[in-house]
Amino acid sequence: MNLPYCEPYRIKTVESIRQSTRQEREEWIRNASYNLFNLRSEQVFIDLLTDSGTGAMSDRQWGAIMTGDESYAGASSYYTLKETIRDITGFEHFLPTHQGRAAENVLFSVLVKEGDVIPGNAHFDTTKGHIEFRKAKAVDCTVSYARDIEVIDPFKGNVDLERLEQVIRETPREKLGCIVMTVTNNTAGGQPVSMANLRGVRELADRYGVLVVMDSARFAENAYFIKRREEGYAGKSIREIVREMFSYADAMTMSSKKDAIVNMGGFIAMKDPELFRKASTFNIIFEGYITYGGMSGRDMNALAQGLREGTELDYLEARIGQVKRLGEKIHEAGIPVQLPIGGHAVFIDAGRFFPHIPASEFPAQRLAVEIYIEGGIRGTEIGTLLADRDPVTGENRYPELELVRLAIPRRVYTDNHMDYVAAAVQNVWERRDQVRRGFAIKWEAPIMRHFTVELELPG
Ligand SMILES: *Cc1c(COP(=O)(O)O)cnc(C)c1O
Repeated sequence: MNLPYCEPYRIKTVESIRQSTRQEREEWIRNASYNLFNLRSEQVFIDLLTDSGTGAMSDRQWGAIMTGDESYAGASSYYTLKETIRDITGFEHFLPTHQGRAAENVLFSVLVKEGDVIPGNAHFDTTKGHIEFRKAKAVDCTVSYARDIEVIDPFKGNVDLERLEQVIRETPREKLGCIVMTVTNNTAGGQPVSMANLRGVRELADRYGVLVVMDSARFAENAYFIKRREEGYAGKSIREIVREMFSYADAMTMSSKKDAIVNMGGFIAMKDPELFRKASTFNIIFEGYITYGGMSGRDMNALAQGLREGTELDYLEARIGQVKRLGEKIHEAGIPVQLPIGGHAVFIDAGRFFPHIPASEFPAQRLAVEIYIEGGIRGTEIGTLLADRDPVTGENRYPELELVRLAIPRRVYTDNHMDYVAAAVQNVWERRDQVRRGFAIKWEAPIMRHFTVELELPG
């Protein structure tokens, strides 16, 4: 018999979590204006809101915290991290930032200006936020079949190279800020990008003289999928694959809260010393001096260790195996989920779960709320709420998919927790006809509304 995947660690510390009653949850979510971000964490039993900053650090990471160097300039922790980043990504220059969006803010201060066009595969919401905040335009060129959740393709995170080239040709060179490639493609459901696709983007970028920025939050998970799915990579190590991926980019932004398994942190890394110099000025203004950016020395130490652990094959095997296990359980119950199951999360198709609820009533938000009421499980909406309004017309933007994302924190929950989640989702599925309506907006912010929106049940 083939032995199954198994976590390459054992548990040394545990944290208690508490169940609640359905009645308590109904009251709490009503008081939270049906916005799951407004819940207190004690009101949540299993928290699948995000895999960002929610992972469990290892004993070695905690050990590294104790040996952090808090010098303002030139701390040894900075050099430890610099060498680790060079070793893993191949980039010579790096700037620490407090998280991924800060990295975007600093780098885009150099690369993006008003009127620019920034094509790529689907931009993450903060990335798009930073582009639109600068009155530039993010153009999503993800392959069209990514929007069909049933198409089984190994690399549904890919960019459509023809579409990308078309956008590049239609845009005057001085308005092409950069190309942003997000690995894995979070917005398309944690779907990976193939090496061939990254190579194709590089070729286009060279032909037209454009920079490629890799939004790298889940670069290690992407490398795992390349190893398992792309021809010619089965025998390569994760580290070799990662080095090749980054060789096709000019710069990267990183949310270390994902694949580097720390609770807070980020960085920018790049090839060009001139770009580094320009970005350094913005880093000093927005984040902190260049050898600490937004981070303390101890946190840079933990991040360096996390980058190594996050790029181990046996860790990735267990991590992605657990996500797949949850996804398959939900799928086997007949519930529409995005296939193949992505790297960090399971995406349930709320449009098909609640076909009678119109997109203008946020069916995915309704499903996320029902899953919370059912089992105290907190997921998140990836649908019309997240898509926000068009900045020019002020109209709702309706994405092709209404999804609920159940994101799995790294090294935090056991497979028993996953089975509990699958059972709760199944219970909602069985009573789906009783849920008749979605929500109406009571209040919303002008940008990135999903974090703070207040909802009510329509009259
Ligand atoms: C999380 C994430 C970001 C933003 O990073 P933060 O650390 O949350 O600021 C950017 N891009 C992608 C793809 C992400 O997943």
